[in-house]
Amino acid sequence: MPYDELLKKAFDPGEFRREGHRVVDLLADHLAASNPAGRAKVLPFEEPEAMAASWADRFGAGPRAAFSDLLPEILARSNDLLHPRYVGHQCTTSLPLAALAGMAGQFLNNGSAIYEMGPVNVAMERQLVRWMTGLAGWGPAADGVFTSGGSIGNLTALLAARQVMAERNVWTAGVAAEPGLAVLVSEQCHYSVKRAAAVIGLGEDAAVPVAVDASFHMRPDGLEAAHAAAVRAGRRPIVLVANACSTATGSYDDLEAAAAFAEAHGLWLHVDGAHGAAALLSPKYRYLVRGLERADSVIWDAHKNMLMPALITAVLFRDGGHSYEAFSQKASYLFEKDAREEWYNFAHRTVECTKTMMGLRLFVSLAAYGTDFFAGYVTAAYDLARDFARLLREAGDFEIATEPESNIVCFRYLKPGEPDLDGLQRRVRRRLLENGRFYVVQAELRGRTWLRCTLINPRTTLGDLADLLEEIRKLGT
Ligand SMILES: *Cc1c(COP(=O)(O)O)cnc(C)c1O
Repeated sequence: MPYDELLKKAFDPGEFRREGHRVVDLLADHLAASNPAGRAKVLPFEEPEAMAASWADRFGAGPRAAFSDLLPEILARSNDLLHPRYVGHQCTTSLPLAALAGMAGQFLNNGSAIYEMGPVNVAMERQLVRWMTGLAGWGPAADGVFTSGGSIGNLTALLAARQVMAERNVWTAGVAAEPGLAVLVSEQCHYSVKRAAAVIGLGEDAAVPVAVDASFHMRPDGLEAAHAAAVRAGRRPIVLVANACSTATGSYDDLEAAAAFAEAHGLWLHVDGAHGAAALLSPKYRYLVRGLERADSVIWDAHKNMLMPALITAVLFRDGGHSYEAFSQKASYLFEKDAREEWYNFAHRTVECTKTMMGLRLFVSLAAYGTDFFAGYVTAAYDLARDFARLLREAGDFEIATEPESNIVCFRYLKPGEPDLDGLQRRVRRRLLENGRFYVVQAELRGRTWLRCTLINPRTTLGDLADLLEEIRKLGT
């Protein structure tokens, strides 16, 4: 087909409508079958080489296949995160409406780091940030931005912390101008925190680990010890990073204790709430983040416990002015003032230059279902984790790593007479991957191997989890 004709076809509203209806119908059918009766496999696992080879030579100089022709295969061979037996990673089941909003956002493609490029989305993000800082217990001075994921969120917050806490202007002069800064981090921190310490030039060694207790919380004496160790090594600690909650086990650090320690030692308190800040939504589980209002910064992933398609992360600052320090020159009054007057040009404060319309997905979802829906979701997911832990305890042939505080549960199968329990968990997990009926992941804790579930799918029931235990017993033989 000549270029002119293809161009007409590509932008033809009738063609778009027809293809769009076909695509939405296929997705709706997929959703309808996302359950054990409709689809046995959550994870149609294929070896990577075979998978890659099967997608070779499938496009060329001219048209080969319509999207709606490819989609059935894409759906059949992808992981089904909508399936109630998807209980693996923290990457969430997408709220179907949010996926539609994502489509509209991609259709509009308003780059949202600059107001004039994406006015509606910028305004929505402003209102969402206000709502989230309000939930954090902060006043009108608080502010923040949305960015592309928790890893970049931690990086952004640590950049701001470094700039505020350093005595020299390291943004301009480089970290060599002020060597020896340190960041105190939980032993259980997400790898992106240590990576951020390296990326911002402090070095991974500058991330000094704080020991945790049997339930994976930072220990009070661990805080003292880490601070002393950093000072002994000739470093000046500037930041304390606390987990709300940790990735591996979903454990919430005592934020009041962390805040008291940070205040006593003049540290910036950053709360990594990528997974667990959503507890702020739940009247029942809000207590888990008591003390968060004393933090200097917090990150919160809506693509984890808020059902949003990836990526959408809020980086929030108690003192909103600090949000301008991540990518700017210290004490440059003029620039700062200019930047602050331009709150609507998020590029002053984000890694991104072109940014997707991430706020749109969350905003329309909140508008359509209300904040109580999301509160109910968090409460139900956290309740289910506690019910699952009870089930595991009562089963007798399973153990849990620690009592779940969020919706993450780590456990292992204690097959009677099994001499190699670590090998058993790995074998079971591999067989689960291959048979595809459940998606469960794996974690190393206290030098042992555990199975790990994140109950992030609102359609997962205790019955599904009871079936999971049966499946594990069967595969463990
Ligand atoms: C998931 C997670 C991150 C990383 O967030 P991404 O959005 O995956 O980049 C950081 N910290 C914690 C505690 C997490 O659970």
